[in-house]
Amino acid sequence: MFDYGIKIWSQNNFIVEDGVVKVNYRSKPSLLEITKKVRQTGIRGPLLIRFPHLIQKQIGTLYKEFKRAMKSFDYQGSFNAVFPLKVNQFPNFITSLVEIGKEYNYGLEAGSKAELIIAMAYNHKKAPITVNGFKDKGMINLGFIAAKMGFDITLTIEGLNELETILEVAKELGEPIPDIGLRIRLHSSGIGIWAKSGGINSKFGLTSTELLEAVELLKKNDLLQKFKMIHFHIGSQISEIAPVKRALREAGNIYAELRKMGAENLGAINLGGGLAIEYSQHENFHAANYTITEFTNDVVFLLKEIAEQKGVIQPDIFTESGRYIAAPHAVLIAPVLELFSQEYTERGLKLKKTNPPLIEELYDLYKTINRKNAIEYLHDSLDHMESLLTLFDLGYIDLQDRSNTEILVHLIIKKAIELLKNSKSYELKRIQDRVQERYLLNFSLFQSLPDFWGLKQRFPVMPLNNLDVRPTRSASLWDITCDSDGEIDFNIDYPLYLHDIDLKNEEYFLAFFLVGAYQEILGMKHNLFTHPTEVTVEFDENGDYRLERIVEAQSILDILYDLDYDLNELQSNLKSNLANSHLIDEEEKERIFELLALILNENSYLKMSPKKDSE
Ligand SMILES: *Cc1c(COP(=O)(O)O)cnc(C)c1O
Repeated sequence: MFDYGIKIWSQNNFIVEDGVVKVNYRSKPSLLEITKKVRQTGIRGPLLIRFPHLIQKQIGTLYKEFKRAMKSFDYQGSFNAVFPLKVNQFPNFITSLVEIGKEYNYGLEAGSKAELIIAMAYNHKKAPITVNGFKDKGMINLGFIAAKMGFDITLTIEGLNELETILEVAKELGEPIPDIGLRIRLHSSGIGIWAKSGGINSKFGLTSTELLEAVELLKKNDLLQKFKMIHFHIGSQISEIAPVKRALREAGNIYAELRKMGAENLGAINLGGGLAIEYSQHENFHAANYTITEFTNDVVFLLKEIAEQKGVIQPDIFTESGRYIAAPHAVLIAPVLELFSQEYTERGLKLKKTNPPLIEELYDLYKTINRKNAIEYLHDSLDHMESLLTLFDLGYIDLQDRSNTEILVHLIIKKAIELLKNSKSYELKRIQDRVQERYLLNFSLFQSLPDFWGLKQRFPVMPLNNLDVRPTRSASLWDITCDSDGEIDFNIDYPLYLHDIDLKNEEYFLAFFLVGAYQEILGMKHNLFTHPTEVTVEFDENGDYRLERIVEAQSILDILYDLDYDLNELQSNLKSNLANSHLIDEEEKERIFELLALILNENSYLKMSPKKDSE
C-alpha cells in the first residue's frame, strides 16, 4: 500500500483502503466516488470539496482539550474562542462554522470593516466578537453599532490613536460602549515563515510605555471599567512550543501588573492564533513539534502559575486559532490532463534504414536493458541523448533523428524504472530527479495554492486511486497558467511519485489536502482563472452523504465584470466584429454567435477530458 504519508498529516480524517483514499467518516465514501458524482453534473476543472464534519471535529477538539486541561489543573477562569475571519470568509464555510459553533458559543474575529459586517450579520448574539487590526472612525462606529445590536464585542486597540477615536465616538454615540482590549507588544516572538506578527519590531501592539499611557487615558475618561482583555498574537503556524511559552509568561505578567495598577475589570487574556497544522507527508520533516494536548496544558498551567504567584484572579482564556480550525475541512481535486512523456511510445518511433550510430546504440540499449545493467544503461542513454542533441544543434542529424532520440530515451527511462521499482538505491533517486515526469493539472496554483507560490508551503498531495500499485514516476506538477512559476517541482528531499497512467484509457486525479485555511481568499486571478467549483459534502444520521451548495466556478463574463469591464460594450464589440466579417455568410454568423455566447458563460478552466483511443 502506498499511502503518501497519510498517517502523518491526515489525523485519521482520510484513510487508504481498497486502493482508494476514503473519507474516514460514517459511510466512508471514496474521494473518487464523490468527484465522479460531481462531474456527472457536467462540471469539469478543479473542484474544492468542503467537509463540515471536519470543522466540527476541530472546534470540538479545541474546546474539549481546553476544558480537559482546565479541569486537570483546577483552573478558575473560563475558555472562549473566536474564528478569525481573515482565514476563510467564504459563505459556504462560514455558514457551516457558525451553525456548528452555536453549542460552544464560538464567536468571530474581524480585522476589517467588511469582516466586521460579516460578524454582525451572522454571529450568534451571545457569542463573542473580537476586533483587531488598524481601525479608523468608521470601523469604531461599526463596533458601537454592534454593541447597540446587543453583541458581546471587544475592540482591541493596536495604537493610542485608536483609543482616542473610541473616546470621541463614545461621546457621539453613547452607551452601550464596546469592551476594550489592548494588544500588547511582546519582546518574545514567533518563529518560522509567518513570524512577523510578534516581537519588539512587530507591526502591531502597544509597548509597555504606551500601555501605561492607555490605562491613564482610560482612567481620566472614566472608561477603565471597559478595559477587559489583553491580546497578543505571535504569528501563524507556530512550529515549536517554546516561543508560545515565552509569550505566555510575558503576557501573564503584563496581565497581573495591569490588574495591580487598578484595571480591576481586566479578566481575560487572548492568545491570538498560531496553533500549527501538520502539513508534512514525509517522516523526516515535521511542521509542528507539539500536540494540542501539550499546547492546552502549557497555556493553562502557565497562566495559573503566574496568577497564583502574583496573587491575581486566574484570567479567562480566549483563542483566535484559525488555521487549526479551517485547514482540514477542504480538499482540492485537480484532474490530470496530460503526462508530458505520454506521447513517447514505441508506435511513435520512426527509425530509418540507416540511423546515426548513437541512435542504433540507443535502440540496442532499449532492447537489452535488464535489472542488472539498468542503472548503467540509463546513464549511457542520458549521455547519448546529450551528444545527439549537440549533433542536432550542429546540423549533423535531422528532426526525425531527434524525435527518435527523445522517444528511445524515454522508453529506456520507463523500462529502467519498471525494472528497478523495488530498489532503494540513492542513484536511482538521483536519476529520477533528472528524468521526472511532468503532470499537467487542470487548476491554477496561483488561485488554489497561493502559499506554495509565495512561501513554498507544501501541502499533502496524492492520487485518488491506484493506491495498491507502486507509483514509479518522479513527478513535477504543472498548472495551466502561462506562468513558469505555476510548477511544484520534484524535490529530492520531499519526493513525489505518481503512476504512469495512460490517460487515454483512464482518468487520474490528484488531491491536495489541508487547503481550507488562507488559500481561498489569498488566491489570485492570474490569467483570469477563478475560484474553483466548490461543493459541500454533508453526512446524515444514516451515514449517507449528500452534495450540497454546489457553486460553479465564475463564468468568463462574470470575471470580466469583476474587473469592471463594461459587458454591454464588450459583447457588442464581439458582435460587431463578427457581423462585419466578410469571411463567413449570415447563416454561419448566427451559429458562430451562439457558440461564442456559450463559451462566455462557461468558466476559464479546461473542459476537455482526455480522448479515448477508440474515439
Ligand atoms: C491571523 C490572526 C489569527 C489567526 O492565526 P492562525 O495562525 O490562523 O491561527 C488570530 N489572531 C490574529 C490577531 C491574527 O492576525
